[in-house]
Amino acid sequence: MLTPLTTTSRRLLDLDRARLSGWCEEQGQPAYRADQIRRWVFGKRAATFDAMHDLPADLRSRLQTQFHLFESTVVRHQTASDRTEKLLVELADGEHVECVLMRETGRRTVCISTQVGCAMGCVFCASGLNGVKRNLATGEILEQVLRLDRLLPAEQRITNVVVMGIGEPLANLSALLPALDTLNEKGGLGLGARRITVSTVGLPDGIRRLAVHGKAYNLAVSLHAPDDELRNRIVPVNARIGIAEILSAADDYFAATGRRVTYEYVLIGGLNDAEEHARTLGQLLRNRNAHVNLIPMNPVAPLEIGGPSAVQTALFTAALQREGVNVTVRKRKGADIDAACGQLRLQTESQLVSLGGS
Ligand code: SAH
Repeated sequence: MLTPLTTTSRRLLDLDRARLSGWCEEQGQPAYRADQIRRWVFGKRAATFDAMHDLPADLRSRLQTQFHLFESTVVRHQTASDRTEKLLVELADGEHVECVLMRETGRRTVCISTQVGCAMGCVFCASGLNGVKRNLATGEILEQVLRLDRLLPAEQRITNVVVMGIGEPLANLSALLPALDTLNEKGGLGLGARRITVSTVGLPDGIRRLAVHGKAYNLAVSLHAPDDELRNRIVPVNARIGIAEILSAADDYFAATGRRVTYEYVLIGGLNDAEEHARTLGQLLRNRNAHVNLIPMNPVAPLEIGGPSAVQTALFTAALQREGVNVTVRKRKGADIDAACGQLRLQTESQLVSLGGS
């Protein structure tokens, strides 16, 4: 008979390969059982430990007793008209995070969260409106990827991962790095490092820690303004960092990894979208090996600011190009399901608050 799960059951995905091998040995099993288990989890998309039929029954029941294969549950699943899918995931403590699957020809990208809420306070972003509650654990980060992977047909796999969901990834590096390394490993999802992108508000110490990690993941820095005066207003945490420090850390990242850094710039109508801003930004970046990704701001319900006009976006893009900077404008995916970070969680939270208050 299977012993029921207890509150002391662990998340299987918190264990990296070495720790899972160690656990197998503690059970009197050869260490290679860990690779077998990981093949079921990452390669064969097993939904239960019971499905892992080439493992000894005794090992399966020990797994069942001691671990959650998936600890989180999917509480909402939305599909947009462009087939972008978004999940609202409930964690064991009742908190919520979001993750998104975006489909393009030959490419399936997932966007994942690293924290419950966010402490950075960017004025245009839904994720930080109520601050940060806690960091996610490695397993909670990986569960999002595997949930989305299981939405794909058998012959398709995830091709890219972007860490651009809720939270500031570099404020939770000790849980994030083992998760990314597992996605990168052959016995994990086997995604090349260049297919994994970490997006940061620009925490210089975190950027430098990532630079020496030994895997050249892509780095995207959310800049949003060409000078400190404006950036302090849009990204409050900038007041204690400053653009010069961020660019210097990003330069070090390029020197250490050889990876061209992407600068994200959310265009907010009437705030940071003037041609003058584009020129100043161009002067900052033109001698760097940089690429700018312009993101017209997605509307966020409680906020009064919004995106620029299409004409202003085109003028800004052209002004930046005249400065000799590489630039693209981000395609909008999942617009009809509010796929921009943090919005679904925010709605759910405010529904809960209004329910609680009624
Ligand atoms: N904290 C990290 C990662 C999460 S945000 C960071 O700051 O980069 C991922 C990207 O989405 C960032 O560039 C962020 O600025 C952008 N973003 C957040 N809210 C947005 C909105 N309402 N419209 C457009 N882009 C948004």
